[in-house]
Amino acid sequence: MNKPILYIIVPCYNEQEVLPITAPMFLGKLGQLAGEGKISGDSRLMLVDDGSRDSTWDIISELAEADERCLGIRQSRNRGHQNAVLAGLMEAKDRCDITISIDCDGQDDINAMDAMVNEYLGGCEIVYGVRADRKTDTFFKRTTAQGFYKFLSAMGAEIVYNHADYRLISARALRELAGFKEVNLFLRGMVPLVGFKSTCVEYARAERIAGESKYPLRKMISLAADGITSLSVKPLRLIMSFGLIVAFLSFVGVIWALIASCSGHTVAGWASMTCIICFVGGVQLICLGIIGEYIGKIYMETKQRPRYIISERTWENND
Ligand code: UDP
Ligand code: MG
Repeated sequence: MNKPILYIIVPCYNEQEVLPITAPMFLGKLGQLAGEGKISGDSRLMLVDDGSRDSTWDIISELAEADERCLGIRQSRNRGHQNAVLAGLMEAKDRCDITISIDCDGQDDINAMDAMVNEYLGGCEIVYGVRADRKTDTFFKRTTAQGFYKFLSAMGAEIVYNHADYRLISARALRELAGFKEVNLFLRGMVPLVGFKSTCVEYARAERIAGESKYPLRKMISLAADGITSLSVKPLRLIMSFGLIVAFLSFVGVIWALIASCSGHTVAGWASMTCIICFVGGVQLICLGIIGEYIGKIYMETKQRPRYIISERTWENND
């Protein structure tokens, strides 16, 4: 069997502080794996600039010039982490046999790649990197992230626990993933749907080497909302059950009101009446909001806009 060509896909958004440190680490890993004879010498590092506003693209261009194993693509504007990863994966899928996607901040242990490649060589098409613990995350990040997984699974979105976007995917699985045309991207939920033989590899998650997190709470909440709405219709079912419960309570309330009015206590019901009106009004607004969220997603899907637009490729510069 020919040695597999590995592409390491790294999304970068405003990462000028950390990229000069981590890019050589990734290249070092490629060198080591190729040296051990596990992967082909044609393996590459593919850096995806997600419309950065700092000098990230200049750094990528320099890296690509200095080392032929380093490739760069640039998104025409910032589209978010998921779209950047997908752009890299789709760009790589016809040039390689396996891809490993990893963040560029050095938080994910690159040494887990050895085990991932071993699992691939052992017959797995998808290998999920799973965090062994979250000791190095801040208390806030740890609790919000754990809440994120719990909430997602409670809402019916099946995902691998404590797995972010550090994973190996074979080109074969990627070609199938390309058939998933949704614009509402949540790779963590989509990749398991592709199927094939898969396994997990544990690794310790370190702190960011430099720079700041590009995933503030706001982006995490919107990722969670995307995850739920793209994987599950459970929220719609929940509001249905909730509506049934409220309808039952209203029925009890009506009977109570009738009895009260027959026994002559008509004015005394003012407070309870107001409470019920407010409560039902609030519940209806929440339910409308959830339905609206799904309609919004349908609206975006029907437009079928491109999920990423690549404006530059380092290997096309010198033509
Ligand atoms: N990222 C991106 N586009 C964005 C936000 C983030 O490509 O709009 C990249 C970022 O450069 C990094 C990865 O996604 O490589 C994960 O981001 P970060 O480390 O800030 O998230 P955290 O680890 O704090 O969840
Ligand atoms: Mg990070």
